[in-house]
Order: sequence, then structure tokens, then C-alpha cells
Amino acid sequence: MLWILLTTGKCNLKCDYCGGSFPAKYVPYAVMYDVKKLKALIEADPKATVIFYGGEPLANPKFIMEVMDNIRARRFGIQTNGTLYRLLPERYWRRMNVALISVDGREEVTDKHRGKGVYRRALEAAEYVKSLGVETIARMAVTADSDIYLEVKHLLDLGLFDKVHWQLDVVWSEEWDFEGWAYSSYLPGIRRLYEDFLNELRRGRVLKVIPFLGVISAHYFGGFRGVACGAGVESVAVNTDGRILSCPIAVREGWAVLGHVDKGFRLLEDPYPERCKSCEFLKYCGGRCLYAQMESYWSEEAFEAVDRVTKEYLRAVLSGIPEIDELINEGIIRKEDLYYDPTEDSTEVIP
Ligand code: SF4
Ligand code: SF4
Repeated sequence: MLWILLTTGKCNLKCDYCGGSFPAKYVPYAVMYDVKKLKALIEADPKATVIFYGGEPLANPKFIMEVMDNIRARRFGIQTNGTLYRLLPERYWRRMNVALISVDGREEVTDKHRGKGVYRRALEAAEYVKSLGVETIARMAVTADSDIYLEVKHLLDLGLFDKVHWQLDVVWSEEWDFEGWAYSSYLPGIRRLYEDFLNELRRGRVLKVIPFLGVISAHYFGGFRGVACGAGVESVAVNTDGRILSCPIAVREGWAVLGHVDKGFRLLEDPYPERCKSCEFLKYCGGRCLYAQMESYWSEEAFEAVDRVTKEYLRAVLSGIPEIDELINEGIIRKEDLYYDPTEDSTEVIP
């Protein structure tokens, strides 16, 4: 199972997607519970993947060290903006399996939303951790300023990231003309990028573009149970106050509380939103995002627009399956090479 550990609510940046730090009353800036109790919970899980999260997780490096020194897990990783990477000693970085570093694509696009100089510092962090043998994932936020084809190609071409993943800046931010942008820019860019992905497959190479790979993996390996990020089913988030949550950003919402480090927790029994239960794409999508389903920040019409784009996106990716079947039958690629488990990396698959 995936264990997302919030190390602090504090963040040293103020990106316009999330606005920076959590209020300390929801996510205290220091860890308030007994780490021994967390140890008992995590070590009872033989498949534990521990991912450090924040705020900016490296704003509390002591807690990361304490966990890595005392808790046994099969896999460690971090979701970070990269700017504070020097605060964690090298010997801990060497033990990390994966680092997800926030970067949105080209320098001007990244710095516009995350702050001047952030792109350069994120790349420096990626270079450093990659040199220590840590797998790197570019974790992008995609807005109206993004050209999805150019941003993803840019990040792949840098050679600093082993995988690329993106999330759309929808539902959390103010409503914007998402659908207009999606049909004029995003979906055409997706189709172009997917053609590049297929071209590489024809050469026997799997490009690690997570939103493609995750959907293809769901097709060949049975699909996701619940949302692909695993929220509340295959994944829990441990808040700094000790509450165990289904989703790491749902720090204010009662529905997300599954338990407490002191008392244990219960996973969700029925992870699917009602509106998704009859959807033909359920096995690939699982409801896209539990938080967005539960919290109606956008109007119903705008929410439906996101859903229409998600379906178009899934249709585009699944259109390649007949050819991928042939490539597997001809031995050009192996089915196992298309396997992807998002809970190993703490990604969401569906943008
Ligand atoms: S495509 Fe939309 S309706 Fe279908 S499972 Fe995903 S979120 Fe639910
Ligand atoms: S995809 Fe949604 S439910 Fe899953 S972790 Fe992200 S915000 Fe939470």
C-alpha cells in the first residue's frame, strides 16, 4: 500500500495552483504524533511504499531522516519542488527509490506559475538526485499556458527525468474556459504526443509518459480499483496531526478521515462515485479524482466539461490498443513492459 506522509504544512514557494503553505491549524508545521505508532502501522504492511509530501516535505528534513532511520518500508520516495534538496543528506537521497519533482515544462511556463528561478532549481535537483541513482519523475501542472506537446517533449528531451506525469489545473483553481482550450490545444497536442509514443513502441521502446502508460496498463492488467491514485483504497495519507486521510489534500474535509495513527484506520469499502458506476471507462479512470468528486468547487456544467475531456482523452489513448496488441503478438514489445502501478510512484494516471 502507498503511505503518503505529510512532513509539514509549510511550503517555501507560493505557486498559483495551490497558493503555498496549508494553514497550520489543518496541517501543523511539525509532526505531532508518536512515530513509533506510525512504525507499527507501516511495518504491518509488507508492501509499504512511503512517499514524503507536504507542504514542501524538505522543509522538515529531520522527520524524513527519523522515518528512514526507524521505519522499514519496501520503497521510499518524495514529492518535492526540489529547491531545498540540499537539506537532506546524501545518504538518505541514495536510499530514495523515486523523486517526483514539480516542473511544468519549459522554463517560462514553469516560472510564470511557480516563481522566477524555480525551473532552474528544479532541474538542478533532478540532476543531483538522478546522479545518485534515484528515479526521477517530472510532475507537471498543466494550465491554459501549457502546450502539452511542447512541455512534455521538452522534459523528455532534457534527459533528466525517467518519467513524466501531468495533472490538469482544473477544479482547484477559479473556473476558466477549460473546454475551449482543451479542444483547441490540449486534445490535439495529446493526439500528437500519443503518435510519438506509438512511434517509439513500434521501435520497441516504451516512453514513460505516465498518463498514457497507466491507461494502457489498466487495459492489459485488469484496471484500477477506485481512483488510480488509490485514495482510500490502496493509499492513505498521514497528516502531521496524526489523522489518517484518504487523500493528502483533503485536510479540512471530514469525509476524508479514515482514522488516526493512535487508533488505526479503515479503508473505503465502496470507492466509486455514484455518477461513475455505469461509465464505460470506469476500469481506466475510477472516477478520476475522489477529492474533485466530493468537493464541488466548479459548477456542474464545468465539472461535466472536465468529464467530457477526460473521456476524449481516454478514447484517444485506447484507440492505440489494436496496434499495441499487434506489437505484442509480433514480439516487438512485451506486455510486462507496459505494466504500471501508480501507487508505487504516487501518481494519479488520469490528468
Ligand atoms: S470518465 Fe468521468 S464518469 Fe467515467 S469514470 Fe471517469 S470520472 Fe467517472
Ligand atoms: S487524484 Fe484526487 S483523490 Fe487522488 S490524491 Fe490527488 S487530489 Fe486526492
